[in-house]
Amino acid sequence: MHTGSVPIRSSNRPRKRLLVHLSQAVETLALTKAPRTHVVPLKRSLDGSLKLQSFDVTSREFDHFENLSNALHRLDKGTYGRCIFCGASIETDVLARTPWATECRECGDQESQP
Ligand SMILES: [Zn+2]
Repeated sequence: MHTGSVPIRSSNRPRKRLLVHLSQAVETLALTKAPRTHVVPLKRSLDGSLKLQSFDVTSREFDHFENLSNALHRLDKGTYGRCIFCGASIETDVLARTPWATECRECGDQESQP
């Protein structure tokens, strides 16, 4: 009988990892905050109203969502994993830690220096 393991090549699946981060972020919001409910009346021809739910997010939370959604856009455009400053490939360990990274280590280091 054969038993085997399926290799998980997580570094080759950035989309999946980004989506995991995204759903975790949404889950965290849903667990820690009560949603606001807005009722938006529809125009005359469309009878009724629309119920919208939203969460108040801090700017940090908002940034996180934006980073994730930008990374997904870059995946679609084929520019994911490339440094936005110098165009070099972003190191795989950087992407492993922050899948939404937009700069290589060198450019990131320069920016964080005073
Ligand atoms: Zn760079």
